[in-house]
Amino acid sequence: MADYILALDIGASKIIAAVFDHRGEIIDVERARTPRSNVEKTIDQVIGKLLGRTGISYIAKAGIAAPGPINYREGVLEKPPNIDQDRVHVTDVVKRYTRHVIIANDGVAGIWAEKALVKQDLKNAVLVTIGTGIGGGVIVDGRLLIGSNGNAHEIGHIVVDVDSGLECGCGGVGHWEALAGGRWIPRTAKTLASSTSFDTELYHKARNGDITTGDIYEYAKKGDAFALHVVDYLNKIHAAGIASIASTYDPEVVYLSGGLFARHKEVILDGIQRYLDKFAGRHLRFKVIESSFLEQQSLYGAYAIAYSPPIELVKLNQE
Ligand SMILES: [Zn+2]
Repeated sequence: MADYILALDIGASKIIAAVFDHRGEIIDVERARTPRSNVEKTIDQVIGKLLGRTGISYIAKAGIAAPGPINYREGVLEKPPNIDQDRVHVTDVVKRYTRHVIIANDGVAGIWAEKALVKQDLKNAVLVTIGTGIGGGVIVDGRLLIGSNGNAHEIGHIVVDVDSGLECGCGGVGHWEALAGGRWIPRTAKTLASSTSFDTELYHKARNGDITTGDIYEYAKKGDAFALHVVDYLNKIHAAGIASIASTYDPEVVYLSGGLFARHKEVILDGIQRYLDKFAGRHLRFKVIESSFLEQQSLYGAYAIAYSPPIELVKLNQE
């Protein structure tokens, strides 16, 4: 019997399930919008549809990548962002399909995808996901860092601004995610519009609070001076966050992934470089590159932790 692996990516906006075959190829994928409540039911439907369509009756193992904080002992997401549930019992749902289920923070799973599936000798690396929120995963000296409860490096909550007073979903102020996470970018643009003076279409829209994150990057492409100013500011924020993590972990490489990054990767990669040169200490030598799976990093991460489970996560999942 072929060993099929089920991978589940629970994102802030989408739930994605995929079946991988024994060669690591995706056989089929199913998606749904992440609901605000009763998330377990949607997960069950997505997996049921996927398996029904493929006709696969036996799943050897499953991996789940989800936003933190995660209660690993119970396989439960606790107060996940953008979901109005205090607890989401993810592992229980997936156990209806296979006994062997492993869960990890999506950033942790994402960096493991690089080591387990792409570069086995990866020693010191950081993954930064730039999407609706900002997340991360870290490998130091070849080992996956997870923290005492598996919720280490919530890097989106690094303070990158001490003056704006802009509040984050976590309750703190001036956090990387609160300024440059996709969910908050329109607010950042509105704040910048109130302290600057431009005469462009996007500037007037921003002042009225009438813009989306996508608008800002679109107008920047068209040369709108205010849009370019906002994008430059966002890149400065990303560079501040990346320089802070680099100082903490001394990586050889920083991978960037996530939906927002995947859509605008040239603009972000080019834009952060000159700020990195300014912010990062001279003793640091790291390169910033796009990750191998970009917007599918968490999905491949979910597959990777099931296919080749890191010992640190196995312990945590079994405690
Ligand atoms: Zn925060």
